[in-house]
Amino acid sequence: MRSVPAMTDDTTPPTPPAAATATDPVTLVRGRWVLTAAPDGAATPAWVRDGAVLLRGDRVAEVGTWAELSARYPAATVRGGEHDIVTPGFVNTHGHFSEGLITGIGSQYTLWEWLHALIDHVNPVMHDGAAHAGTTLQAIQLLRSGVTTANDMFCSDPGARGPVTPGVVRALDEVGLRGVVSFGSGDADRDFGFDAIAGEWDALREAADASRLSTFRVGISVVGRQTPEALERSVAYAADHGAGVHIHLQEVREEVTATFQRTGRSPVAHCAHEGLFAVPTIAAHCVWVDRRDRELLAEHRVGVAHNPVANMILASGIAPVAELRALGVDVGIGVDGPASNDAQDYLQAMKAAALLARTRDLQATAMTAREAFELATIGGARALRMDAEIGSLEPGKKADLVVLDGESPTLANVHDPYQAVVFVAGSREVEEVWVDGEPSVLGGDVVRVDVAEAVAAARPVAERLVAEAGLGRLSALTGGPLDAAERV
Ligand SMILES: [Zn+2]
Repeated sequence: MRSVPAMTDDTTPPTPPAAATATDPVTLVRGRWVLTAAPDGAATPAWVRDGAVLLRGDRVAEVGTWAELSARYPAATVRGGEHDIVTPGFVNTHGHFSEGLITGIGSQYTLWEWLHALIDHVNPVMHDGAAHAGTTLQAIQLLRSGVTTANDMFCSDPGARGPVTPGVVRALDEVGLRGVVSFGSGDADRDFGFDAIAGEWDALREAADASRLSTFRVGISVVGRQTPEALERSVAYAADHGAGVHIHLQEVREEVTATFQRTGRSPVAHCAHEGLFAVPTIAAHCVWVDRRDRELLAEHRVGVAHNPVANMILASGIAPVAELRALGVDVGIGVDGPASNDAQDYLQAMKAAALLARTRDLQATAMTAREAFELATIGGARALRMDAEIGSLEPGKKADLVVLDGESPTLANVHDPYQAVVFVAGSREVEEVWVDGEPSVLGGDVVRVDVAEAVAAARPVAERLVAEAGLGRLSALTGGPLDAAERV
């Protein structure tokens, strides 16, 4: 059974569990700093110095000082350490496991060139085994950088080789990463129809319902790649199944122009007009949004996934994060896909969010370390409407957390824990990651799958996929030794 509802409109704090007794099997996760990301006014403070988090089962039971909690629970299993930093698990609000086997090529393209040169060739030859192998590799990297929830949109052509996305759910359960899984594909000018897309949604939804860690959303790659009928049926499908929507909106100017020419509206305005935002929606990017678009996003409570590294790699632009937040839009941070970032390193993306905001405004205060940290945790959870369950370390919420290694030279001296997490720490400092009350990373590496085996298993699958996609001339895609004339 799935362990977290896909979303909730209920913004009331979680019900605190009954107090643990001294003899319950509990775990105390200790840190010099416990950063909870609890909002202002919550019963739990935003940070506790020399603190600890008490875990019982899959939940956070208490947050307090180490002295108090260790005295009350002397039999608790102790994790973390006296110099460590403990944070909520990071919420990756946007990614594509469908790119899991095609990392590190094509970075010389802008978005639409990249879609045509690379993604459109891979989509028709995707299969379940490739989805599983690619997801496993990328989920390991996300976990190693402190991610505990991944909001993903798998993009490929549906139907040709049977359902592919159950492979994603299987991999996430095996590795121990919470997933919000969706499948997105356009049907405009394609060989397949909307029924094939809905068939893939059915398969993914059933796999998620049967999984321990994944929940389902409806994916819409971009409005401009959908027929009007498909958009209408997407809204109906989401409503019928009580599911949210995960979509790309206004990542590049070309998308805005094309949709405006076809519908007379921007993609945001078109989605609002067609009733899409009646279901809970998270929109990736929102780079090219004007004032009216931003107001519509706020009015309809659309969450936004900000992907600073991918936006820089594809030269898409800079999302107006401050303007969106000023209107009350919930913004989270995403790494985006393994072929458009390309690293699945969340700490890198969090730092880039702060740097990009400062570079845009030429203001060192444009985004503080604490603001970036809050976008990465509770902000992402709110954007997904999952903040009643994840995103902060408060009693009653899911036990999803990260321990950063205070014994490393990097974090030997922590003067400001928010700056230490956002500007100083790298993935190498991620010592432990707990998902749903169980460790997925200990001692800096994943514990539920054999990494060497996963890497060895993925290599031949990737080679076959790239060959079948006709992308054998990899050097032509690198922008490396061969010149632009060799581009696919
Ligand atoms: Zn994307």
